[in-house]
Amino acid sequence: MKTKTVLRGHHLLCVHGFQGMGYSPGFVKKMQEVVTAIRDENIDFPIKVVEGLDETCFYCPHSREGICNAPKANDFVLDLDRKVMKHLGIEKDQIYQKNELVSLVAKMVSPDDLDFLCQGCSWLSYGICKKGISDLRKG
Ligand code: SF4
Repeated sequence: MKTKTVLRGHHLLCVHGFQGMGYSPGFVKKMQEVVTAIRDENIDFPIKVVEGLDETCFYCPHSREGICNAPKANDFVLDLDRKVMKHLGIEKDQIYQKNELVSLVAKMVSPDDLDFLCQGCSWLSYGICKKGISDLRKG
């Protein structure tokens, strides 16, 4: 894991529920790398929060020509990014410390907030994301 990473807004939530599922083996491997670093309380590093493709998206088979081409497509995931950043009170293209972002999510996102923040995401019904947020808040 390099010392600075780039994450899209809604991935700030996804990393807490990630259980090894994803869109391709390459995407899962990259996401696992990011998730492992983010969940490690003993390390901290800067994260640039973006609206749009991040470094995990580039391993996803849906990312082409600079946008997400998943079934619900680019506008849907951009809206997720915006909702999460607004909820957390953070701004796109700004750099934050990883531990600061994790603390913000723990403080400001309850599991049931995902019903609104992640509305329409196909992973929401699995329950793993709400559990991830719940576990994070318990410490
Ligand atoms: S429901 Fe979707 S957008 Fe929300 S945290 Fe889970 S995977 Fe991410």
